[in-house]
Amino acid sequence: MIEMVLCDLCKKRKAVIKIRYAGLNLCKECLSKFVEQKVMLSLKRTGVLGKLSGKYLIIALSGGKDSINATYIMHKLSQEYDFKMKAVFVDEGIGEYSKQRRAIVMDLCKKLGIEYRIVSMKEEMGISTPEAVNILVKSRNSIKPCSVCGVFRRYLLNKVALDENADYVVTGHNLDDEVQTFIMSLIRGDIRSIAREACSLGYENDVPKLVSRIKPLYLVYERESLVYFITHGFKRISLSCPYARFSMRYVIREMINDLEYRRPGMKYRILALKERLGKDIRETVLSSVEMRHCKICGMPSSRDICRACELKELLVKLSQNY
Ligand code: SF4
Ligand code: ZN
Repeated sequence: MIEMVLCDLCKKRKAVIKIRYAGLNLCKECLSKFVEQKVMLSLKRTGVLGKLSGKYLIIALSGGKDSINATYIMHKLSQEYDFKMKAVFVDEGIGEYSKQRRAIVMDLCKKLGIEYRIVSMKEEMGISTPEAVNILVKSRNSIKPCSVCGVFRRYLLNKVALDENADYVVTGHNLDDEVQTFIMSLIRGDIRSIAREACSLGYENDVPKLVSRIKPLYLVYERESLVYFITHGFKRISLSCPYARFSMRYVIREMINDLEYRRPGMKYRILALKERLGKDIRETVLSSVEMRHCKICGMPSSRDICRACELKELLVKLSQNY
């Protein structure tokens, strides 16, 4: 017979998750509080919680578990802290995968009573993710699908936030995402990205036309986010993005999960290092980077032409050469 494990906090209900780094078994209700307390902690640490009253937030809702959790939790906070929010779904045009997530986004927004806006990558950038991948494959270019799709998505979110006159963009990045991004920057030797991203919890940018970001799940492990999502009964799609496995992030993710399994709490320690390092190098590294505006689209960029415009131009060039 399988023994039922009780929650270590309430000592009453059945545990649904074991949090190894904290040595805790938690039931659905106590996990909910645990995750939501972490959200409050990250909003307080950034100082953003006290500034939310009267603000307008754009929430990047992709239809995945993390953005759904972030939307749900921020929506719960919106009344108490008196802010407005609108969800934005960027449709990458990845067949059934994008279609199903779009349906989930619309359904969730209707249920919660949140306004939403759908933005088509094809219409806004002139190309969908599969079309971009097709060009890259045919021209044997080594740029990975996520490197194009991710840049275009970030670009569009900022553009929509500016268009909507929003004060913040909320994203569903969890602790695992942050750790993976940090390791990827280390591997690439991308010191600027480390300086920029390292303090992403406690940094509001003052760059004109770059809307500041809020990451409510910054301190939440991916596994905690997944169990929160499942136990809240949110709808999920059965498909994964067909291009995800080509990304470096995929490899790093497996590696870090293995490390966490061997040494529980490892992800937290890497995140702490990222924060510490960021604070130490930020002034020196970023003071030498002059932020300007893209000569083509006018969006913020550290170079004459922003990465999104650069990629668009490259894709046009590549498509003319085969
Ligand atoms: Fe785009 Fe990569 Fe995400 Fe797929 S996994 S939607 S290609 S960023
Ligand atoms: Zn540009």
